[in-house]
Amino acid sequence: MSDAALPPLTIVEIQRRVGAELDRIGSVIDELGVLFAEAGEELSLVGGPVRDAMLGRLQSDLDFTTSALPDVTERLVSGWADAVWDMGRSFGTIGCRKGPWQVEITTYRSESYDPDSRKPAVDFGDNLEGDLGRRDFSVNSMAVRVPSRDFVDPFGGIVDLAERVLRTPGAPEDSFSDDPLRMMRAARFAAQLGFAVAPEVVAAMTEMAGRIEIISAERVRDELVRLVCAPHPRLGLTLLVDTGLAAYVLPELPALALERDEHHRHKDVYEHTLTVLEQSIDLEHRLGGAPDFVSRFAALMHDVGKPKTRRFESGGTVTFHHHDVVGAKLTRKRMQALRFSNHDIDAVATLVELHLRFHGYGSGEWTDSAVRRYVRDAGDQLERLHILTRADCTTRNQRKADRLRRTYDSLEERIARLSEEEELASIRPDLDGNQIMAILGVGPGREIGDAYKFLLELRMDEGPQSPEAAEAALRAWWSTRPGQTT
Ligand code: ATP
Ligand code: MG
Repeated sequence: MSDAALPPLTIVEIQRRVGAELDRIGSVIDELGVLFAEAGEELSLVGGPVRDAMLGRLQSDLDFTTSALPDVTERLVSGWADAVWDMGRSFGTIGCRKGPWQVEITTYRSESYDPDSRKPAVDFGDNLEGDLGRRDFSVNSMAVRVPSRDFVDPFGGIVDLAERVLRTPGAPEDSFSDDPLRMMRAARFAAQLGFAVAPEVVAAMTEMAGRIEIISAERVRDELVRLVCAPHPRLGLTLLVDTGLAAYVLPELPALALERDEHHRHKDVYEHTLTVLEQSIDLEHRLGGAPDFVSRFAALMHDVGKPKTRRFESGGTVTFHHHDVVGAKLTRKRMQALRFSNHDIDAVATLVELHLRFHGYGSGEWTDSAVRRYVRDAGDQLERLHILTRADCTTRNQRKADRLRRTYDSLEERIARLSEEEELASIRPDLDGNQIMAILGVGPGREIGDAYKFLLELRMDEGPQSPEAAEAALRAWWSTRPGQTT
């Protein structure tokens, strides 16, 4: 469920939260505010941290906007911060750290885009309201001046936040034509905050979806990753599909909506895919619990080979032969176009390619070598493959679902047992036959076999030994044998 469906927050409650959060970070914002005020400059907490303080989810990132030019900002924070760095002086941003706080201070902007260029042209502005007016959504266009703590909200962000809705400060068409990436950001914030997107914003996204093509693949990718890793990815993804943006940035996803699944139920592969994604999120505790992009994206892409491989057989059945292999290829192509790292591409493509393998397991018919091959082919993606395969079961037939789950449990148990046995089987004594013969001064024969067994027992009982310790133990054992001296 999206948070937008929750009852609206009250303004009083929001103000109480923001007050409490600002008190919590009071020492940092007050010190910094005084520093800038004494130099005759304005400084305000702005954007994400103001929004998140209102939602009671302020993290350690503190973004500020200021009248000071970057060189002045750098000079002012130098004596105060624990570390200072240049985040992009030409864009006006100086970064610094103070204790646990990551601080970014950006000079007021009055940014305009050259429609033919992919790079924003930056003009520094001279007032806070102008800076806020160039931001993406009203809930991101609020500021708190420091040290006075005056609240500045020219576009009704607090009301939109209470209603959990994303609106642009001005006309959405103007905003998106200045920077089409904001359309992706609408979907990203919907997924992160669980907010609805205002109808006029959805309409502008729908009308202007094609403009996303002027944005670099890297910037699109970064927003997509944030969306997929958010708490409500379904909200963001359905918005991308419904507005037509997905047709440009991830066309494999809307293509799934045309397909009926192989059981002819009224549940198409697209809906199945969103459910698999949510089920795989529910299993992320197996990976430590943090949002895992590779696992989530593999869930999203696992069936993208289906549209291309669909065949209607005589007798009315539908097949998708080799949709795993075809899907892995399409996944690679898409991730390359979005400039993902080879590491991520290999990981996701491996999962897509292997997501069906388990269905050959039947009720446990695999030989040990088939189990070993499964483990080897999954390599370091094995845990994610367990998640994907389990999440890929969306049948409403509870008995069938239980049976699949138990069968997969037994496969995991077999993998654990085999790997334990094989680890044991691969244990060798700390000295080999040649070393034993050299130490004892005897040639091959039964005695060397006995010595080898003795050392293997020692290794099993006491774990690995240094060569010196193994040699000493071997000599002690040898000397106790009837008629032996060394
Ligand atoms: P997060 O917690 O994910 O970092 P955020 O709100 O800080 O959320 P950022 O992408 O870090 O998001 O951007 C910081 C602020 O800068 C935003 O709150 C917004 O006001 C503004 N902003 C960033 N990118 C754009 C953009 N493309 N167009 C307009 N405003 C933007
Ligand atoms: Mg931020």
